[in-house]
Amino acid sequence: MMINLGEVSALADDSVPRTNWSGNFHYSTNKVLQPTTVAETQAAVRSVAKVRALGTRHAFNGIADSQTAQISTLKLNDVSIDAKASTVTVGAGIRYGDLATLLDAKGFALHNMASLPHISVGGACATATHGSGMGNGNLATAVRAVDFVAADGSVHTLSRDKDGDRFAGAVVGLGALGVVTHLTLQIQPRYDMTQVVYQNLPFSELEHNFAAIMGAGYSVSLFTDWQNGVASELWIKRRVDQGGAAAPPAHFYNAKVAIKKLHPIVDHPAEACTDQLNIVGPWYERLPHFELKFTPSSGQELQTEFFVPFDRAYEAVRAVETLRDKITPHLYITELRAIAADDLWMSMAYQRPSLAIHFTWKLETDAVMKIVPQIEAILAPFQARPHWAKVFTLGSAQIAKVYPRIEDFRALAKEFDPKGKFRNAFLHDHADLG
Ligand SMILES: Cc1cc2nc3c(=O)[nH]c(=O)nc-3n(C[C@H](O)[C@H](O)[C@H](O)COP(=O)(O)OP(=O)(O)OC[C@H]3O[C@@H](n4cnc5c(N)ncnc54)[C@H](O)[C@@H]3O)c2cc1C
Repeated sequence: MMINLGEVSALADDSVPRTNWSGNFHYSTNKVLQPTTVAETQAAVRSVAKVRALGTRHAFNGIADSQTAQISTLKLNDVSIDAKASTVTVGAGIRYGDLATLLDAKGFALHNMASLPHISVGGACATATHGSGMGNGNLATAVRAVDFVAADGSVHTLSRDKDGDRFAGAVVGLGALGVVTHLTLQIQPRYDMTQVVYQNLPFSELEHNFAAIMGAGYSVSLFTDWQNGVASELWIKRRVDQGGAAAPPAHFYNAKVAIKKLHPIVDHPAEACTDQLNIVGPWYERLPHFELKFTPSSGQELQTEFFVPFDRAYEAVRAVETLRDKITPHLYITELRAIAADDLWMSMAYQRPSLAIHFTWKLETDAVMKIVPQIEAILAPFQARPHWAKVFTLGSAQIAKVYPRIEDFRALAKEFDPKGKFRNAFLHDHADLG
């Protein structure tokens, strides 16, 4: 179905905020098109010279920015379950929290979720967003097929079954191949989980037990402010079908089990957090740290995250710790998570089991921009990869050193976008996609 230009102008939506979620980044265009169908997405792409896809605006940097136009995917949110194939095909703009509720009601689940359920599936997969778990790949590893509209408005599908390596290049696409309209995700039977929090785990315990600690549950997170040589909290999320309802021991590697619900930042109110204290609940209310019905914070924050090979995790943590007195004054909290290796070319966990070292900063941009390069320098010997959607300063030359398939990715992007319709300043500066 062809859509004419008059109809395209009807897709303009001036209600989409012109900043990202955090408010630290102002988009450079007021033009937002909001298609509701694949045909409208094709028409929207054809109608503009340059454009970027926009999901739920949770990236902390300019990756979604455009000087010309953005295509919001939020009205592409249909859901179709194929129970026989154990897959679900979703519109790219659906939020994980909304999808999870629908899946659970039909008896299905996803393998993992991020710390909050408010992000779009398309935006999360485009940037290799992850949760935690030694055996869990990032959220994009659940993708079995991806449908997108390329620069000339044509529709393409790449699938793991049929397109192998090219598919692996397209999934974490950074918005550079086109506007993803639908993703087909692997699903599994629904499961219940529990969550238990321990307090004050000494860093020294990580030296010989890091893998055992991060593997103590299906999904495990450590939180620290880098002071006193301790992880202030250890969150262990266990699956009931893997023995996860058993009473937790009172002590775990010298950490003590919490007896009340805690926020990752010890003195913050825990109301918005998902249930802890070993209370059984559905997977989608235990894997994320925060509940869908709450906005997890005021948005007054910045985030940075670096991925190091898991076999050097302890060394990397101790290296960052040497910067503690510079980091802590500007930090809300650091979170350490484990991610399984994958084969997605632009994934931060590409071909290496990883530890992600995350920083939730106060919204003190100048101070943060001074400390981030120091963290990057101290983690350079670990070939650290920055999270694509968070604050970092590494340029394309440094990025190229840690992404062995980047040349292939540039070629793939060029195939679907020969004239650079989907390129922006961020992709130019950090991936040499100009
Ligand atoms: C409070 C908070 C908590 C977070 N927690 C985590 C976490 O636990 N783990 C983690 O890894 N990350 C986390 N993030 C980062 C977040 O997952 C990423 O920023 C992710 O990209 C957000 O998705 P989005 O839809 O909001 O993306 P947007 O900011 O809207 O876009 C990000 C990128 O994705 C591209 N994109 C979006 N949709 C499409 C599409 N349909 N087709 C093609 N490209 C598309 C955009 O062009 C852009 O390049 C968090 C962010 C916030 C603000």
